[in-house]
Amino acid sequence: MLAEQLISKDPLESKSPFELRVHQSQVSESAVKRALETGDLGFLHSFTTGSTVDGPGVRVVAWTAGCQFRCLYCHNPDTWNMMNGMPVPLDQAIGEISRYRHGLKIMAGGFTLSGGEPLMQDRFAVRLFTAAKAMGIHTALDTNGYLGERLSDKELEEIDLVLLDIKSWDPERHRQLTGKEIGPTLDFARRLAQRQRRVWLRFVLVPGFTDDVETVGPIARFAAELGNIERVDVLPFHQMGRFKWKELGLDYKLEHVEPPVRELIDRTCAQFRNEGLKAF
Ligand code: SF4
Repeated sequence: MLAEQLISKDPLESKSPFELRVHQSQVSESAVKRALETGDLGFLHSFTTGSTVDGPGVRVVAWTAGCQFRCLYCHNPDTWNMMNGMPVPLDQAIGEISRYRHGLKIMAGGFTLSGGEPLMQDRFAVRLFTAAKAMGIHTALDTNGYLGERLSDKELEEIDLVLLDIKSWDPERHRQLTGKEIGPTLDFARRLAQRQRRVWLRFVLVPGFTDDVETVGPIARFAAELGNIERVDVLPFHQMGRFKWKELGLDYKLEHVEPPVRELIDRTCAQFRNEGLKAF
């Protein structure tokens, strides 16, 4: 199948990742397998521009489709299934980043690959990062870290910054919250520290699920001991993704959970700061 035939007619760019996008891909199973092996083709929810929260400066963000976690608070459940993504040839994705290369340099920004979970498509991710670096563009990977072992040490060098999500500390709670084990994420965090890679830690604060002192404290201590965490972003839970759960017919268990109040956000940030970390 020619790459051109795989391009969806829907626009690749969206104003926001909160746009619900499903069933954008009509690609055969063998084509998907080949795409995952080679990285010639990626499955993307969209591209967005102008982000100031997904790494330093102003960012172009590619949102990948496919995630192995099932976070109860996920605000983009339409990105869980890779087939909900648009099949995008690697060259087209590189071309999209290239359009913004001058502006990104002027604004001290860069390119961020987020999702979904980008490492579900690790070959595509590596090739995109390599191309962006070759254009002199700063690169960032936003990941839950579960598949970090898919990247070689050399490939890690193509990523200037890792935005690493740690969802919980208690193994059982992590399983309830995400459907997966916490071990691989912590292993990846340790490896990034050993390799002295730059990392920003991301922690989603969900009242009643991740906000207790006993959850935040050990994560803060772990992060401080790593020695390579430049900052911690405490991300307050919100309800902006609720409509997607409904549209997709999913059982949304956080229907009645309120966003955290200011005092709780401050207390959580203080727990990270008490360990010597910068937290926002
Ligand atoms: S890791 Fe991210 S994309 Fe995947 S389920 Fe969790 S919040 Fe959603």
